[in-house]
Amino acid sequence: MTTHVTTVPAYAAPAAHAPLERTTVPRRPVGRHDVLIAIEYTGICHSDIHQARDGWGKGIYPMVPGHEIAGVVAEAGPGVTKFRVGDRVGVGCFVDSCRECDHCLRGLEQYCARGGTATYNGRDENGEPTYGGYSTHIVVDENYTLRIPDGIGLDEAAPLLCAGITLYSPLAHWQAGPGKKVAVVGLGGLGHMGVKIAHALGAEVTVLSRSLKKREEALALGADHYYATGDPETFTALAGTFDLVISTVSAPLDLGAYLGLVRTDGALVNVGAPEEPVTLNLFSLIGGRKTLAGSMIGGIAETQEMLDFCATHGLGAGIEVIAADKINEAYERVIASDVRYRFVIDASTI
Ligand SMILES: [Zn+2]
Ligand SMILES: [Zn+2]
Repeated sequence: MTTHVTTVPAYAAPAAHAPLERTTVPRRPVGRHDVLIAIEYTGICHSDIHQARDGWGKGIYPMVPGHEIAGVVAEAGPGVTKFRVGDRVGVGCFVDSCRECDHCLRGLEQYCARGGTATYNGRDENGEPTYGGYSTHIVVDENYTLRIPDGIGLDEAAPLLCAGITLYSPLAHWQAGPGKKVAVVGLGGLGHMGVKIAHALGAEVTVLSRSLKKREEALALGADHYYATGDPETFTALAGTFDLVISTVSAPLDLGAYLGLVRTDGALVNVGAPEEPVTLNLFSLIGGRKTLAGSMIGGIAETQEMLDFCATHGLGAGIEVIAADKINEAYERVIASDVRYRFVIDASTI
């Protein structure tokens, strides 16, 4: 058992707007209920870029991003019961929560009343900064560690820990399934998982993307229909069609126009987060008893359910594996939407 703080290689942004560079960061001793994870792959989430560049403010530097972590248990504390050395595991967007509030007790740790502990750019219970998955190792409480089933590669599983659960949770909550019409807005890292999961759940899936450019790939991912939102005809043709519209777009949307696509009692759910506030004419909700909602990742139990579901249905993320020295380049390509669909860092190159 590791009783001392370990120093491990990592890639960090030394300051806001500074490129990421190789460095080392401390990892806490492996506690009674902790596992030490040898990281194999970490996905690059768009929110890594927002946070590394301080787009959301209050960034803690140096910052080691990464909350789509997949690896293998290298060491387990004496009180660990859920995992053994050698188990394939994952870590998502948070590594702790209060475990006492109404949300935590209901398995909704992502909405912990006390805020929980983010995997990176957060502070642990001792006030120490947390460092994420752009690193070779991480120490995490077993209760915030997920099991990655054998049926899925660790590289394609990594992005499920954020992108996968971000789409799975609202699809499950709003009961996407046979007989339901679901639209996914945007076909990036989030959207492509939404299409795969909604299709596997048995829903009729439509992709709404700016142009017709991604039509063939959307159909190959499991979409039944595809429409370009750049064509105003789309909003007329699809008026009142969908039980559920999930927007993965992080640019401001014309919410009224998208609510027009929702049928009576249906919902428009946002999982993308524009930095700017949006306005809405409430008549677009009133006429049709519609719901405008948001959703953020998922709890531990639901994340495990998602991983099991994805393994059963053979749903990994579409990935491009990169070496760690290409992270800054990858950031620029993510911003330019030039990736199909997720960059994953090979941690052996850190
Ligand atoms: Zn993320
Ligand atoms: Zn809580």
